[in-house]
Amino acid sequence: MADKNKGRIKINSELCKGCYLCISVCPKHIIAVSETLNHQGYYPSKSTDSSDDPKCTGCAMCATICPDVAIEVYRD
Ligand code: SF4
Ligand code: SF4
Repeated sequence: MADKNKGRIKINSELCKGCYLCISVCPKHIIAVSETLNHQGYYPSKSTDSSDDPKCTGCAMCATICPDVAIEVYRD
């Protein structure tokens, strides 16, 4: 399963303020709105990437645009 350009993200849901800029920029459309409120009263974004067939390329556009530095990108 060696595949280049694979990444994954971790969203800190407690830092997220629900601006959804990350959702708007992700070229793979793998970020969505969570149905669970965080402690600040926002519905944070969440990754919907599949572990069986991951789509994240690790491009980091989501992390770059996030005003609250809530997203970390890992390249495996
Ligand atoms: S860009 Fe950052 S603050 Fe905005 S929804 Fe995404 S993770 Fe949350
Ligand atoms: S790193 Fe790129 S592909 Fe992966 S979730 Fe963020 S914007 Fe989408």
